Amino acid sequence: RRHALQQLADKPSVTRDGVPVILLANLELPGDVTASRRQGAVGVGLFRTEFLYMNRDQPPDEEAHLAAYLELVRGLDGIPLTIRTLDLGADKPLPCLGDALPRHANPALGLRAIRLCLQEPSLFVPQLRAILRASADGPVRLMLPMITSLTEVDKVLQLIAETRRALRRDGLAFDPLMPVGGMIEVPAAALIAGALARRLDFLSIGTNDLIQYTLAIDRGDDAVGHLYEPLHPAVLRLIRYTAEAGARARTQVGMCGEMAGDPDCTPLLLGLGLRELSMQPGALLAVKERVRSCDIAALTPSVDALMDRLDELEPPALADALESLAG
Ligand code: PEP
Ligand code: MG
Repeated sequence: RRHALQQLADKPSVTRDGVPVILLANLELPGDVTASRRQGAVGVGLFRTEFLYMNRDQPPDEEAHLAAYLELVRGLDGIPLTIRTLDLGADKPLPCLGDALPRHANPALGLRAIRLCLQEPSLFVPQLRAILRASADGPVRLMLPMITSLTEVDKVLQLIAETRRALRRDGLAFDPLMPVGGMIEVPAAALIAGALARRLDFLSIGTNDLIQYTLAIDRGDDAVGHLYEPLHPAVLRLIRYTAEAGARARTQVGMCGEMAGDPDCTPLLLGLGLRELSMQPGALLAVKERVRSCDIAALTPSVDALMDRLDELEPPALADALESLAG
């Protein structure tokens, strides 16, 4: 079966009725790039940059960021790379962040990710400069984690504009059109997705955190792990709302949480309107197989009907309904 799937690596990711679906890889280390290309990824939809901050006494400087990003850009050989800015907080204390991060009782709701970066420009700006500089060497997109408000987005966009001016003054090259996108990981962000879509170049739904924050389930707490339910109606409605808001603004909406890599969810996600899925490289071929068996024209009305009946369907019944969608 692994052999049969491997033959799909070079086959196009299109549905039976000819709709292309972009399948991308989630990477945590620059070295992961070879494996993901072997699995047929046509780009990287989420490069987590947290590894750069591990095992050091000082935060990485601009050159350390740049070296990692250039290794990836070159390994990807012209296919796009989405670099997510630092997504750390008091939930993952790091020696190199020193006392920027005192311990908090409720770290998932505390100073983390984009909130931390906006508070500590000396931490954030070297990363922004390196991402922009890497964009001179290949297609790079910048992605912001844990957005909750338009004010945050406006502040980051202003900081990026200032960083561009500084790079110009320093005579350093970058792509002036590098896309800037945001993750939809908090219900608040999903519910303002229309306004976010008008300000940003793309959105990507991070279901791992979106589920955690919607259901109030700590994603790392085994005691409530059985309550962590990707098919909860509230989660599905937030996904649909985001996809529709993106479509109205003509802004691409993708998904990069674990749900994007679950082939059982593929028909549902396509029926909800998503056309870009980013996942751990090991899931790419199974999802592609599912994409190629789907018929969007038939799926879309079935998913609409399912969404209308959500309140009557408990997640187990919903899972059965999803299986029948797959045909
Ligand atoms: C997510 O939250 O879905 C996501 C992709 O980001 P991470 O798993 O790194 O928090
Ligand atoms: Mg997340």
